[in-house]
Amino acid sequence: MGADVDVAVIGAGIAGLAAAHELARAGRQVRVFEAADHVGGRMATRRISGFVVDTGAEQISTRGYPHTWELLRRLELDDAVPRIGRQLGVWRGGRVRRGLAHPLGLITGAGMSVRARADFMRATRGRFDAAHPEASRLGTATVTEFAAPYHRDLLEYLCQPVVSGFFGWRPEHSAAAPFLGLLGAIGPSTAWRTYDDGMDLVARALAARLDVTTSFPVREVMAGPGFARITGDGTELRARSVVLAVPAPVARQVYANPPEHERPFLDACTFTPMVKVHLMLDHRPESRVYLLAVPRSESPSVSVVLFDHLKHPDRAPGGRGLVTVIASPVMAPALLDAPDDQVVGVLADEAERFVPGLRAAVTGSVVHRFRHGLPEATPRALALRAGFESRIGGVVDYAGDWVSLAPYSEAAVRSGRRAAARVRTRPSSTTVSSNTRSQHA
Ligand SMILES: Cc1cc2nc3c(=O)[nH]c(=O)nc-3n(C[C@H](O)[C@H](O)[C@H](O)COP(=O)(O)OP(=O)(O)OC[C@H]3O[C@@H](n4cnc5c(N)ncnc54)[C@H](O)[C@@H]3O)c2cc1C
Repeated sequence: MGADVDVAVIGAGIAGLAAAHELARAGRQVRVFEAADHVGGRMATRRISGFVVDTGAEQISTRGYPHTWELLRRLELDDAVPRIGRQLGVWRGGRVRRGLAHPLGLITGAGMSVRARADFMRATRGRFDAAHPEASRLGTATVTEFAAPYHRDLLEYLCQPVVSGFFGWRPEHSAAAPFLGLLGAIGPSTAWRTYDDGMDLVARALAARLDVTTSFPVREVMAGPGFARITGDGTELRARSVVLAVPAPVARQVYANPPEHERPFLDACTFTPMVKVHLMLDHRPESRVYLLAVPRSESPSVSVVLFDHLKHPDRAPGGRGLVTVIASPVMAPALLDAPDDQVVGVLADEAERFVPGLRAAVTGSVVHRFRHGLPEATPRALALRAGFESRIGGVVDYAGDWVSLAPYSEAAVRSGRRAAARVRTRPSSTTVSSNTRSQHA
C-alpha cells in the first residue's frame, strides 16, 4: 500500500520548518502539519496595531548560531538581523547594575562582588559543548550544585537570574552544563541581535517555500512497518517518514508506540512553563538597559523586564513603548491558567517597582503562555540524552531544542537539520498515492 506522503513533519516551529526545508531541498516530498493557525511556535510574532510582539524568543547572537546563520544566508535574510547594541542589567538593592553578559561586567560588577567575579572566571574554565552538554566535567550537577563552592553572588546575581529569566529554570532542578555550554557558545551581549520585523522572520520565509497545513492538531502518530499513521481531527494519512518536531511531552503524548529504548528520555525530558505579558505604552520609558534580569531575592514574581522598543525601535510605533514582563518560575505555573487581567495585574504591578510610571502608561496588553516553555534539562534527562540521540532514526524521528537539552533556537534549527539528514538515509516513496482519507468536506 502506498503512502499518502513521503515525509510528514509535525510542528511548524523553527525545528520542523528547518527539517522540512532541508528535505525539500533534497527533493523529498514533505508536508508540515501545525496545530496553531500560524507558524513559528515558540518563535512566533504577533502584529497588533503597529506593535511587533515577539511572543517567545527575543534574540539570537552572531556567535553560537552557525546553523541559523547558514539558513539566514540561504534565505538572503542575513542583512535583516541588526545588532541590539544595548546592555543588559541586573536589579540589586533598588537599582539597575549594568554589564550582565558584557565584558565590562567583570569590571563594573554587574551586580556581583569582586570575589564572585573572580569565582566566575574560575568556575567557567573548561570545555562546555552546547550540542553535547553531558560531556562536560560537571556531569549532571545542578546549577545550584555547580555554584555551591563559590561566593553566593555567583548563584544569586548571575546564574539564578539568567537561568530563571531566560529559561524559566529553577537552579536546583536543572543541570548546569547545558547552561554553561550555551553561555560559552553565544558570547557576550555585544554579539546579540534580533530580527527585523519580528522573531518569526525565518519561520515565515521557510513556510512560504513549503507545503504547510496550519490549524491541524495531530492527535496520534502510530508507527507501522515502513510507514506511520497520522491521525488529525477527522483525517488520517500514512507517511513513509515522520519528524515529530514538537516539545518532548507532546511527542510522548501523541506518539502511541515509541520504541522501548526511547521512552526513558522522552519521559525525563520535562519542560518549564513560561508566562510573558507585553504591555503597550503611550510613551517610551527611559532605561539604560534593554533587558533587566531580576533575581529571586529581589522579586517573587518577575524575572525579566525587557524594553522591546530598545531591542529594536520598530517593535513599537512612533513614540509608543513596548515592554515585556516575564513571570518568575515560582509564579509561572500559577499564572498558566489564570485569566489575562489577573496575569497583567500581577506582573505589571510588580514591574512598576523597576519601571516607575509603567502602570499609568499602559494602553493595552497581550499575555503569552507556554505550558512547554523550555526544556528543563534535569540531571536525569541529561544522563539519558546522549543514548537517546544516538539511537533515533526509525520511521518516526524527532526534532526540537530538547533533543540536545539546549534551551535556545539554534538547538532547534540544528536538530531539524540533523533529523532531515537521518530521514534522507531512509528510502523515499517513488510513488506517492493520493488516498488521504478526510471526513472534512
Ligand atoms: C519565552 C521564551 C523566550 C525565548 N527566548 C529565546 C531567545 O531569546 N533566543 C533563542 O534563541 N531562543 C529563545 N527561546 C527558545 C526558542 O524559542 C526555542 O528553542 C525554539 O523556538 C524551539 O523551536 P521548536 O521548533 O523546537 O519548538 P516549537 O517552537 O515549540 O515548535 C513546535 C510546534 O509544534 C506545534 N504543535 C504542538 N503540538 C502539535 C500537534 N499535536 N500537532 C501539530 N503541531 C503541534 C506547536 O504549535 C509549535 O508550532 C525562547 C523560548 C521562550 C518560550
